[in-house]
Amino acid sequence: MPSADGRGPEDFPGADDPTREAGAPTWMSSELAGVPDRYQRLWTPYRMAYIQQGQQPEQPACPFCVAPTLPDADGLVVHRGTTAFVIMNLYPYNTGHVMVCPYRHVATYDLATEEETAEIALLTQQAMRTISLVSNNDGVNIGMNQGRVAGAGIADHLHQHIVPRWATDANFFPIIAQTKALPRLLEEVRAELAERWVS
Ligand SMILES: [Zn+2]
Repeated sequence: MPSADGRGPEDFPGADDPTREAGAPTWMSSELAGVPDRYQRLWTPYRMAYIQQGQQPEQPACPFCVAPTLPDADGLVVHRGTTAFVIMNLYPYNTGHVMVCPYRHVATYDLATEEETAEIALLTQQAMRTISLVSNNDGVNIGMNQGRVAGAGIADHLHQHIVPRWATDANFFPIIAQTKALPRLLEEVRAELAERWVS
């Protein structure tokens, strides 16, 4: 099926290769915001939102720097603050997985200014309230991975994960199953979170 910009599977060699390692990044995931993991998703078309940024292949732009320069829907931006913003994770662990990032390209939490630190905390609280309002989740995981060895996929730009949890999401981080179907499209979730954002 052709993607939104008319490109089809032939433009992404290997994406449908049955011998491809499960969960290996398809499309051009190195350019995207989020951490490719080994779980294959059954949906992908909105990844084009990040791909259509016109990045130069020889100098991949930081997706967390690029996203805020785009219209919200294209950059998957949920909410914008003064020094930080909220964005959907392209490789969500669960429906509604968002991240809070400073606009400034800094790698680790200790490099954030006092104002950025305060706003990251505030936006994290607001995201929790909004997710709760929208999805009636039972819990939430919050955290930052600092450095690649600690699990950060985009290690150069600070981001805090906020992952809603439900008592029924028994397949959370499935160890055995390699495929996890997420029930709602990223943009649909983004739009709902943005519209019902609790400040
Ligand atoms: Zn950046």
